[in-house]
Amino acid sequence: MKILVAGGAGYIGSCTTEYLLDRGHEVVVYDSLVKGHRDAVDPRARLLHGDLADRDRVFEALRAERPEGVIHFAAFIEVGESMRDAALYFRNNVANGLNLLDAAVDCGVRKLVFSSTAAVYGMPATVPIPETEPTKPINAYGESKLIFEKMLRWYNEVHGLGYTALRYFNAAGATERRGEDHHPESHLIPIILQAAMGQRPHVQVFGDDYPTPDGTCIRDYIHVSDLAQAHLLALESPLCGSFNVGSGSGFSVKEIIQVAREITGKPIPVITAPRRPGDPPRLVSDSTRARTELGWTPRFDDVRTIVASAWAWRQRHPNGY
Ligand code: UDP
Repeated sequence: MKILVAGGAGYIGSCTTEYLLDRGHEVVVYDSLVKGHRDAVDPRARLLHGDLADRDRVFEALRAERPEGVIHFAAFIEVGESMRDAALYFRNNVANGLNLLDAAVDCGVRKLVFSSTAAVYGMPATVPIPETEPTKPINAYGESKLIFEKMLRWYNEVHGLGYTALRYFNAAGATERRGEDHHPESHLIPIILQAAMGQRPHVQVFGDDYPTPDGTCIRDYIHVSDLAQAHLLALESPLCGSFNVGSGSGFSVKEIIQVAREITGKPIPVITAPRRPGDPPRLVSDSTRARTELGWTPRFDDVRTIVASAWAWRQRHPNGY
C-alpha cells in the first residue's frame, strides 16, 4: 500500500513509519518539523517538508503522491499547554487538520486513520473504559481531538471518506532506532529517564492527593510498536469508527517511577508538585473492540518491557535525536 503519514517525524508517527516500511509498504512522510525530528524519519521513507496550515502544499502533496491510505499524527499533544493556550490546539489540531481531510477527499483516499486520545473521555464513570463511555473532555487537547473525530464521521457520511480514530492511552517505549524526544520534554517516562541519567535533579509528581490507592494518577501505558500495529490493521480494515488502544492495565505515577528505578538501577529522586490542570485521576482502556474487530494483538504490553525499551533508546541517545 502507498501511505502518506502526516506527522511522520514525531514520536508515534516515526515508529509507525518504520513499522509500515518493515512490512513492505511505501511511505511518504509529510511533516512541518516544528515538533518532529528530521533524523526520526526512516531513510526508506520520502520526507515532504510542509505544514498542514499550508492548504496548497497539502493538496499538492496528496495530488502528486496519490496515496491509498493516510495516517494523521500531525497535532499538538500536551494537555498542560492546551490549558494555557486553547486556541493553539483548536487552530492546529482542528482547523489545519481540515486541509488534510479536504485533500484526502479530493484525491480519493480510501481510508484515513486518525490519532485520537483517551483524553476524549474526560473523567470516565466506567474504568476500564469502553468506547461506549460518554465523551466529555476536561482539557482543550482532548476536545480538539473529539471535534476532529466528529468531523471524520461527517466526512464519511457526506464524502464517503473511510476512517478509523484510534484513541490512544499513554504511548510509551521505543524501537531500536526510534524513541520519545520532545523539547521541552513533558511526558512522564522520558522525564523519569532523564532524572535517572542525572540530566534533571528530580521528577515532579503532579499531585499526590488523587482518589487512587497511592494518590497519584493512574494511566495505561502502551508500547509504541503495538500502536503502530493498530494503525496498519485499521488501514486494512473496512470498518469505520473509534477504537481504544491500550494495554488494559493501569499504573500510577509512583509505580512507574519504581519500575524505572528497578530497570535503571538509579535512585530517581522525586518531589511532589501541584496537580496539573486537566489531568483525570484514572485512565485505563477496555480495548476489546480493537482486539476482536481489528484483530489487534499487542506484543509488548508489559510495563517493564516498555520502560526497558525506552531506557535502552535513551542510553543510546542521551540527548535525543
Ligand atoms: N506526570 C508527572 N510528572 C511529570 C510528567 C507527567 O507526574 O513530570 C504525570 C501526569 O500528571 C500524568 C501522567 O504523569 O498523570 C502521565 O503524563 P504524560 O504527560 O506522560 O501523559 P498524558 O497522560 O498527559 O497523556
